[in-house]
Amino acid sequence: MELDELLKKFKEYSSQDTTVLEYAWNYSSEAHQGQKRASGEMYFVHCAAVAEILVDYKMDQETVAAGLLHDVLEDTKIPHETFRKEFGEEVYELVAGVTKIETLKFSSRDEAQAENWRKMLLATAKDIRVIVIKLADRLHNMRTLNFLTREKQLEISHETLSLYAPLAQRLGIFQLKSQLEDLSFKYLHPDEYQSLLTKVQLRYAMREKLLEDFKVSVEGHLGGTQIPHRVLSRAKNLYSIYRKMLRQQKPFEEIQDALGVRIITDTVINCYALLGTVHSVFKPVAGSFTDYIAVPKMNLYQSLHTSVMAASGEIIEIQIRTEEMHRTSEYGIAAHWRYKLGEKGADHHLDEKLNWLRQWMEWLQDLSSPREFIESFKTDLELDQIFIFTPKGDVKPLPVDATPLDFAFAIHTDIGNTCIGAKVNNKMARLDVPLKSGDICEIITRKNSAPKKDWLASVKTAGARSHIRKYLREHGMIQD
Ligand code: MN
Repeated sequence: MELDELLKKFKEYSSQDTTVLEYAWNYSSEAHQGQKRASGEMYFVHCAAVAEILVDYKMDQETVAAGLLHDVLEDTKIPHETFRKEFGEEVYELVAGVTKIETLKFSSRDEAQAENWRKMLLATAKDIRVIVIKLADRLHNMRTLNFLTREKQLEISHETLSLYAPLAQRLGIFQLKSQLEDLSFKYLHPDEYQSLLTKVQLRYAMREKLLEDFKVSVEGHLGGTQIPHRVLSRAKNLYSIYRKMLRQQKPFEEIQDALGVRIITDTVINCYALLGTVHSVFKPVAGSFTDYIAVPKMNLYQSLHTSVMAASGEIIEIQIRTEEMHRTSEYGIAAHWRYKLGEKGADHHLDEKLNWLRQWMEWLQDLSSPREFIESFKTDLELDQIFIFTPKGDVKPLPVDATPLDFAFAIHTDIGNTCIGAKVNNKMARLDVPLKSGDICEIITRKNSAPKKDWLASVKTAGARSHIRKYLREHGMIQD
């Protein structure tokens, strides 16, 4: 990648002046002069590649500049003060955020990993762009992993798969998540990866016809309605197929892997109109419809999901969404940074939508042991959510296996603290029994009642755990 290519790609989506970008390019190239990567390439090639990934995700100029400069503070002798004066507060903070994550030293690896993650998330609470840079850095490192020793490859792939990929998923950057997963999979299980790759390519080639038939049927029924739409087939990432094989303990040939189709249109109303059309042409599979437009996932994901039966008897999984929802589902939170700059169609509700992230960071900050931190982090990152209703019909999304206690704290800290029992679907239930999606949960409280120590074992969410700990600590019931 050359500078003029980068500038050209950047200008396709941004009207920001590119002086800083050009300066960062030359500055970084000079600062890393003489340094080489394991591949034998000049070190700066890595910096330029990270910047290119950030441009692919349409990040703003400060982020792309920080991508070019992300290793300067760590790998060269340039003092922080000098750097801050050169590039100003914003770019400096981004690079310093990335650097902080890199340079922490710890006694054990587990502790180091947990502490690294905690630092990273705290940095993110201030500016989420730090994480997007970090993810781009990791993606390029994964792409060039073949130059490292086998031992290093395994170590880095493992970390990528267990922490970076779920983080990308939680931030809703699915494109990046899939790439990180498949690259890790390739190094962790090379034989399985190769054989699955061949089989999947063959299966998808055979499905072209099915997709074509589906498009023709939908077109035919839309006829004169003039609802703008495009139909895309959806390739699943290899690692998610592999995980399904392990879970179901079946070979690829026996895995029911439905054809995935996306229909993209202009407005929310047309999403529902298209859903109606699809259901009138094809028989829907009972229980497969989920409305993530009315109730979005926590990572901002929105779409209508349904499965239908094709004439051939094959199941087709369909997602219907607007162009804007599509962008969010591919780029996640990264997609929204552009708007924050007020370039095009600013999203005023975004800050509100991102509140869960800040809240979540605060809870995580409260957890003291590295192990507990990693545990909560992994649980809360899980995309699979259940939706629990209050008797009044309000809905709270919670992770799978969340309990009435989690629900109580999700409603309000006071409700959680004074909780003494719960009714699930009108029947008395234990506070530690896992809830199921769609359950109606009523929390019973008593004034002056208080959290108990064994509650810590009954909750799944970082939020509930943090509130219980806080209470126990303040009342001298636990030490840390
Ligand atoms: Mn780097």
